[in-house]
Amino acid sequence: MPGGRPLRILIVEDEPAIAGAVKAALRADGHAVDVVGDGGEALDWVRSYAYDLLLLDVVLPGLDGFSLCSAVRDYGYPGAILMLTALDDVRDRIAGLDRGADDYLSKPFSMDELRARVRALGRRRLEDRSPMIQIGDLELDPATLGVWRSRQPIRLTAREFALLELLARHPGQVITRERLIDTLWGADFSAESNIVEVYIRSLRRKVDGGRRDGLIETVRGSGYRLRPPGAP
Ligand code: CA
Repeated sequence: MPGGRPLRILIVEDEPAIAGAVKAALRADGHAVDVVGDGGEALDWVRSYAYDLLLLDVVLPGLDGFSLCSAVRDYGYPGAILMLTALDDVRDRIAGLDRGADDYLSKPFSMDELRARVRALGRRRLEDRSPMIQIGDLELDPATLGVWRSRQPIRLTAREFALLELLARHPGQVITRERLIDTLWGADFSAESNIVEVYIRSLRRKVDGGRRDGLIETVRGSGYRLRPPGAP
């Protein structure tokens, strides 16, 4: 099968001709493909949709491809990243791989080579698809943004999910307000904003909803943590 398993792909590329050609080729292989031209907007998309693969150009308006790569990995994006480096420059390749990219392709590239790289990354990703996260009776599926408590489904917004996932990936560990703001909202929000409190309140209502065994704990003066099961 020429395209392998269908993937959900986000192309982050500000040159319409390249973005259009890549999109057409990957769609022809059966993948679901979105295109965004601004690095900052791309971060919002990655936070909102469960992509399997990101194709990142390096020179972008908003946020450059390397910074975007770091930002999505910090956020916990589990999928594959393929960097499209403008120059055949070894420093660019190392910069991308150091920041969590899985592979790179130098421009200009042949569409057949791009499709082959996408197939290879897709195979690798489907093998080590990010597993379910389980904390006591709380379960999260990062691939579908599904959440269950005692097997009952809970409906969360993408950003609520991201907040819960960040806490759940570090059970028992205090995550500071600053880190939460930085990871989930970026530099747009100041530390004085009460955005985190608003989201935590909403999450508590949905996840802990009046239960005595609440999982989301406030650590006064520092941040929040997810209490691992059986912890005092
Ligand atoms: Ca560019």
